[in-house]
Amino acid sequence: MRIILLGGPGAGKGTQSKILMKKYAIPQLSTGDMLRAAVTAGTEVGKKAQKIMKNGQLVSDAIVNQIVSERIDEEDCAQGFILDGYPRTVAQAEALQYILDKKHITLNAVIEIKVDESVLLKRMKKRVDDMRKMGGLVRSDDNPETFAKRMAEYKQKTLPLSTYYRKQGQLKEVSGMGDVAAVAGAIDVILEETAVRRK
Ligand code: AMP
Repeated sequence: MRIILLGGPGAGKGTQSKILMKKYAIPQLSTGDMLRAAVTAGTEVGKKAQKIMKNGQLVSDAIVNQIVSERIDEEDCAQGFILDGYPRTVAQAEALQYILDKKHITLNAVIEIKVDESVLLKRMKKRVDDMRKMGGLVRSDDNPETFAKRMAEYKQKTLPLSTYYRKQGQLKEVSGMGDVAAVAGAIDVILEETAVRRK
């Protein structure tokens, strides 16, 4: 199963990816997590990405395309993967198509988790509060100012992806306004329909 999850910051892509990971025994490929790991490890990519991420902007397409292309070649992706936070621009979607074609891989589903902007902001604030209460590390881009920039980047650069995949007849939409189980249920229905159509 090869799935792309689309949605704004805090829409629930990460949470739903973890559920899908267990269900299908496939890895979650989160470019955000991979970039944060690179920042922590102090690699060349990490050094380039650090400031951009802290400012809520998007890292260059070339960097993320390469990271994803290499990651897909790893053994644990043989049965599939969930792309969480990638692609994020139409150029990345085009690059992904090229990468997949070269590897003779096809996607099963592109699912957009739709959540109102006001709810996304509330979720980000709650996430920060919860982290502080637990004594955890708050992400450096989880604050109202940077969140506003991430939202602006999302609207300008990532939302056009919905049109891109809709035109290709690949886009499926679910409401992300319900609780985690309700969203997971709606995603299940889509993936089961996709599987039936492929039989
Ligand atoms: P995320 O964890 O998906 O919210 O990503 C955190 C940050 O990592 C984003 O705000 C971007 O700076 C960067 N990032 C993650 N994925 C991508 C991507 N596909 N393209 C460009 N930048 C990305």
